[in-house]
Amino acid sequence: MSLGPVHGIRIEGTGIGGTRVDSESPGNPGDPIPMVKVRVHGVTFAYASRKVLSGVDIEIQKGDFLAVVGPNGSGKSTLLKVISGALRPIAGSVLVNGKEVTRTSHKTRAQVMAFLGQMEHTDFPFTALDVVLLGRYCHQKRFQKETPRDLSAARRAMELTQSSHLASRPIDSLSGGERQRVLIARALAQEPEILLLDEPTTFLDISSQVGILNLLKRLNEDYHMTIIAVFHDLNLASGYARKVLMLDAGRVYAFGSPAEVLTERNIQNVYKTRAIVQYHPTLGLPYVVFDPTEENPTAPTSHDKATGGTTETAEDLHIDPCGGIRSKQYWPQMRIHVVGGGGTATELLHALAAHGINTTIGVLNIGDSDWMTARSLKIGVIEAPPFSPIGREVERLEEVVLEADYTVVTEVPFGPGNLPNLLALRSALERSAMPKVGLIGDENTLSGRDWTEGLATSVYRDLITRGCRLFPDTNAALDYIRTVGLRKASRHCAI
Ligand code: ADP
Ligand code: MG
Repeated sequence: MSLGPVHGIRIEGTGIGGTRVDSESPGNPGDPIPMVKVRVHGVTFAYASRKVLSGVDIEIQKGDFLAVVGPNGSGKSTLLKVISGALRPIAGSVLVNGKEVTRTSHKTRAQVMAFLGQMEHTDFPFTALDVVLLGRYCHQKRFQKETPRDLSAARRAMELTQSSHLASRPIDSLSGGERQRVLIARALAQEPEILLLDEPTTFLDISSQVGILNLLKRLNEDYHMTIIAVFHDLNLASGYARKVLMLDAGRVYAFGSPAEVLTERNIQNVYKTRAIVQYHPTLGLPYVVFDPTEENPTAPTSHDKATGGTTETAEDLHIDPCGGIRSKQYWPQMRIHVVGGGGTATELLHALAAHGINTTIGVLNIGDSDWMTARSLKIGVIEAPPFSPIGREVERLEEVVLEADYTVVTEVPFGPGNLPNLLALRSALERSAMPKVGLIGDENTLSGRDWTEGLATSVYRDLITRGCRLFPDTNAALDYIRTVGLRKASRHCAI
């Protein structure tokens, strides 16, 4: 294919500067690409008297790939229809290339924007090519039969969407993914500059979803097509779109890059669902994991503990006792802090949560695997930003260690990034009369996990000299923690 940067999709002829569909001058190679702009300006829309969009204000540049997200009923489909000009706002306006959409004819609009609705019905006995040719109506005169140009534009659109082999198949015999390709080809046959798609991949299997989204990405990147699509799946939105608009009850809640919009706080506030947002290590894009243990998404959890919120015990949280580790025994209430990382604390965290022990962990980088375990178990975390050295968060660590009944350090490797945790433990020990810190693993294994040129080893030794216990494994640490609790309980009884 020899298509270079084009104004919208030029399907006909060489592909560069075919017949223009708007009033601007035809494009020549080297011409600056005109900035197609969609300006949604203070749009309010109501069905009868029910307002479903309020004061929506956004601007979409040429070549943007915008994902519109939001819970069911937040107005995503309605916004798309308002942008397409199918619905007229009761206040505000939509300008496309400076022209108000509701003041342009349906046919003119269709030459600039193509709309693919949510779950379009295609149960009529047309072939795929017939369906794609329907996209040409906006270029045809009334009652005119299709011209050779229409036919070649339709075929070109099918090539682009890799659906040419389906041309003579009845549309109602196609799979979901195939049908969606044909419908996108119909949209492309309009030779639009802007593609509006309402949940284009919902109900498709994963490979068809990825196929359709890769097609949209190619149209966007290689052909500078502006894409505005409603996404049901936040991870697909993050992976494919350049910008995300999050709607909440008809209002713009957030608008910006995926990383700016798809935050835990925004998702919690808009979807009323607690989510964990992580960053893909190589792509740097946010991805969202919904918490499967979440029962009452709006309730405060012990995660808030480290940041001063209220706490819940594991019993409140319906966590299964893990692997039966001493689960039949009586476990007194106490506060335990864990210093771990990289998955070294997973077993301990599960056991403590299963016994309903009020536990905190940290300092951990956001995204660390122990951080994820802690979050899923509703354990409070003192957290540091992802992939950065631990900094002033250790001040909180020192306080928590001094307040805790006991602190356990798991067999975590130490590097310059998490060395401050060990240093904070040492300074906490310097400030307390009783060493209430235990270390899992032994001194001898430390050299293999010391990436600080011996600094960590020397602080570790210092901790042992100051009276920290060594535990050979997690179970030994748990045994000791229990005795600490029992001692505490008996002291309380004696009073
Ligand atoms: P979304 O696409 O985000 O799920 P919609 O834009 O479809 O939301 O709907 C927004 C609100 O408008 C919903 O409460 C919905 O019930 C209502 N609504 C949608 N279409 C119509 C209609 N044709 N007539 C009346 N109300 C509608
Ligand atoms: Mg919808």
